[in-house]
Amino acid sequence: MKNKNYDVIIVGAGGAGLMLARELGIKKRKVLLLDRKTDLLNLSFRTLGSFMDINEFHLSQDVVAADINKIILYSKNIKCSAVSKACILDKAYLHKHLIESIDKNYVDIRTGIDIKSYNADAAGSLTEITDDKGNKYIATYYVDATGLSGVLSKRNGLQDKQPDIAVGVEFNVKYKGKTNEAHLYLGNHYEGGYGWLFPLKNNRAILGFGSFENMVIGELKQRLNKMLTIPHIAAIVEKDNDNAEGGILPITQVKTKFVYNNLVCVGDSVSQVNPVVGEGYKFIFRAAVMAANAIEKAISQNNTSMLKEYEYEWNKRYYDFYRKAKRMQQLLIKYSKSDNKVDLGMLFLKTKRNKTIEKIISGEFTKKEAYLP
Ligand SMILES: Cc1cc2nc3c(=O)[nH]c(=O)nc-3n(C[C@H](O)[C@H](O)[C@H](O)COP(=O)(O)OP(=O)(O)OC[C@H]3O[C@@H](n4cnc5c(N)ncnc54)[C@H](O)[C@@H]3O)c2cc1C
Repeated sequence: MKNKNYDVIIVGAGGAGLMLARELGIKKRKVLLLDRKTDLLNLSFRTLGSFMDINEFHLSQDVVAADINKIILYSKNIKCSAVSKACILDKAYLHKHLIESIDKNYVDIRTGIDIKSYNADAAGSLTEITDDKGNKYIATYYVDATGLSGVLSKRNGLQDKQPDIAVGVEFNVKYKGKTNEAHLYLGNHYEGGYGWLFPLKNNRAILGFGSFENMVIGELKQRLNKMLTIPHIAAIVEKDNDNAEGGILPITQVKTKFVYNNLVCVGDSVSQVNPVVGEGYKFIFRAAVMAANAIEKAISQNNTSMLKEYEYEWNKRYYDFYRKAKRMQQLLIKYSKSDNKVDLGMLFLKTKRNKTIEKIISGEFTKKEAYLP
């Protein structure tokens, strides 16, 4: 069975796909948004720390679980804080809000559709995509927003076949700390990776632990349990359930190509997550907005090469910063095994102005600053 033609088919209705669908709907483009999940709000974890300004993306205040104005970084022996405007987002509310704000007059959302393959013409442009039941879907432009699955990006050389990954796991815990402070933990003392404590509403918080090592979920949970015994964490956190949530995120080399003929890729499918702190949403939303603008131009001018504007815009804004952030990530991976080295890094951070610390963790470097060591 062949489905009707669309301007754009977006595969993947995570944060990237939903934002892109919303933007293209606003532009009154016929879009088909497909996801293999049957319930789009069935999420593997539920909170997001973010430096985004929700107004930039016209999001409702409902998506915010806590407003943050101070971030405290900890190594084994050093504590360093930065005044910073950030927020903790409720991922389920955020996705629900995006789904509701998509214009269904223009965007068809279909769930339980698992895209498995595609056909392309002699020049390499996609002509149709096919699901696991053999149904075919046709559009002028195709978008891979399938996250690490990268069902189209991997086969077109835009994502590594087996991307390097980091793994993360989180507990939802009782919380006695301040609701305007987020905590980040670095180094071996915090089980050799990085940890986070994000306040939520109702005296609860998310305590998470991420690792660059390849670990099974049981081991991650064990390490997260150990973090709970660290006195300054134990003083403000109490675990009252053993449910762990989590997932994987890409830590590949910085990507520069997101477009291949009539294929556009956004989000984790092309590793757009900030290498330093693993913040994805602000960056994938910006990518989705840029991609929507380029797709709109390509459609209205009937000129596929306009899609490259998205790639150009992204690289102009983020390439230098991401390269710098990648170097920092590699240092973090290397030195996180040594508490002394992480302590030294923190002492260096303490000499920096508040604004610089905020820039390092939020990724808001200017192009010129991104070149500096
Ligand atoms: C543990 C953890 C903690 C994180 N914490 C933060 C944080 O605090 N702040 C932050 O900003 N970011 C955070 N991130 C990163 C952020 O979650 C990701 O960058 C973001 O989810 C990527 O969104 P995406 O839409 O590209 O991909 P995804 O969210 O992975 O969405 C992909 C969608 O595609 C669908 N799909 C996949 N394959 C197919 C297929 N073949 N056919 C059809 N559909 C398909 C999937 O079902 C899914 O719905 C974290 C990530 C992890 C793992």
